Amino acid sequence: MTGLKKIIPRRFGYYLRRWRLYLRGLTNRGNAYHCPLCNHSYRKMFDGGFDLPVIKKMQIIGAGRRKSVICPGCNSTDRDRLLYVYINQCVDINKKSRILHIAPEPALAPFLQKLAPDNYVAGVKYHEGFYYSKNVKLFDIKAIPYDNESFDLILCNHVLEHIDEDDKAMRELYRVLASGGKAILQVPWSPLLKTTVEDPSVTDEAKREELFGQFDHVRLYGNDYPQRIENAGFLVHIIDPNSLFNENIPAERLAINLNEVIFVGEKQT
Ligand SMILES: [Zn+2]
Repeated sequence: MTGLKKIIPRRFGYYLRRWRLYLRGLTNRGNAYHCPLCNHSYRKMFDGGFDLPVIKKMQIIGAGRRKSVICPGCNSTDRDRLLYVYINQCVDINKKSRILHIAPEPALAPFLQKLAPDNYVAGVKYHEGFYYSKNVKLFDIKAIPYDNESFDLILCNHVLEHIDEDDKAMRELYRVLASGGKAILQVPWSPLLKTTVEDPSVTDEAKREELFGQFDHVRLYGNDYPQRIENAGFLVHIIDPNSLFNENIPAERLAINLNEVIFVGEKQT
């Protein structure tokens, strides 16, 4: 009974949120924006993110309050839609491809699942008090419970800035990636910083907000971020979003942030 009491409200809350999202999508249909993830067009997108002084001061890319970026129908963000376009255009996927999605974004998960129906793995670290669907594997990114070369595509989007010893996590991602495979490794970063700022002794949430831009971030990456990925073994590609969009795929209509470069680590054959 105690178990049921716990499960029923959570499930109820989940379906209530789904229903409210559905209604919000319906009532905002229009033509100004298009979301490729839920494949509907809308008259508006909602603002998202939050501002802190360090985000503005350090011009952090991939953070901060952004205007018109949240899809009314599926809650996808500008970051989600950018990765959708990149994967569609630049990643060689077939039905047999194996995909690892770390800390899966709800708007991206169905898209990736459809790409690799039999070989899609979503994984996240267990945190007390959160509800996890039975399809999500619970594990530590620093000890991924899969054999070497198990995946052809890895999506690790805005995760590494939360992980102490990110070098260990990157090496694990490299280990489970197949030769020729790609890992998308997005993080918030500051173009003003020559090197990454981190201090493991800072555990106070207010201090982390002040230094790193979010209460649960453990560092703020700088221009050395690609080098850090390379140190784990990857060949690094830095993709300029401008190269992905044109008049047929207009960035404005998809509400994309063209400043957010994509960091891709490839495992060479
Ligand atoms: Zn959408």
